Amino acid sequence: MRVIATIDELVGERAGWAGAGTGAVGFVPTMGYLHAGHLSLAERARAENDMVVASIFVNPAQFGPNEDLASYPRDLARDLERLEAAGVDVVFTPTPEQMYPAGFSTYVVPEGTLNARLEAAVRPGHFRGVCTVVLKLFNLVRPARAYFGQKDAQQVAVLRRMVADLNVPVELRVLPTMREADGLAMSSRNSYLGPEDRAAATVLIRALRAGAAAFDANRDGPPDAALAAMRTVVADEPRATLDYADVCDPRTFAPLATLRSPALLAIAARVGPARLIDNVVLDESGDWNMGRVAGEN
Ligand code: AMP
Repeated sequence: MRVIATIDELVGERAGWAGAGTGAVGFVPTMGYLHAGHLSLAERARAENDMVVASIFVNPAQFGPNEDLASYPRDLARDLERLEAAGVDVVFTPTPEQMYPAGFSTYVVPEGTLNARLEAAVRPGHFRGVCTVVLKLFNLVRPARAYFGQKDAQQVAVLRRMVADLNVPVELRVLPTMREADGLAMSSRNSYLGPEDRAAATVLIRALRAGAAAFDANRDGPPDAALAAMRTVVADEPRATLDYADVCDPRTFAPLATLRSPALLAIAARVGPARLIDNVVLDESGDWNMGRVAGEN
């Protein structure tokens, strides 16, 4: 596995991939502090491509001024071990100065409902930072396929839109949310949780399960009962504060007036020092995709 920290080196290396007749490149962008969710993306990329590139970059452009950029967890040595074990060929670990040199001034700014509601409303500028860095990484790595997690459902929708709107020649693959045994979605930010907050953090998946049950009981009806079910579970957890609970279209993020498929139940809450997000999806055929527990089939 090669670890590359500069754009010049990456571009030089990429010329070699083409020269060696290397076929499809699969790409897994991350912010590091890797867990089984990230590794599921790397393993799938390994299975589906000739060459696998991962990136580790805590992207300053997607953090707001009062967010956790400075405290975001990092452990490069452990991440590299895990990526090597997953069969990754190249890891790109640029510095902020490499990605945003002096004078940098061109950003990719998504618009419309997708960049107005939920994460976009709570984190203004977040998806501008995400789109800008992901398009730069796509231009540098030039993957045939790129792998993302359903855990960040709005990010997936925003990036699908960007790839379609700007004719970016890459296929996006989205993999299920990986969960701990008690249902908590894996997240690098779970490391912020002390034992009591860690126990309380299952409130997100508990709320989503309650929302899904209320959804099933009210199909073709209004979303009120599903929304109320999610809110009640969070209100009953003293360590948690709800940011939002929502029922929307998974592609456009427009709120659903009537409960039908496809649908996304999305939730964000603060638990102690961590802001956590999670979601479950009702697919076109009417089946719930709740993610899966790491280590289970
Ligand atoms: P991050 O390092 O948080 O930026 O995440 C990098 C990629 O891993 C993104 O595509 C995330 O959606 C994905 N990811 C994060 N957490 C999970 C999870 N629990 N299950 C599956 N994918 C995840």
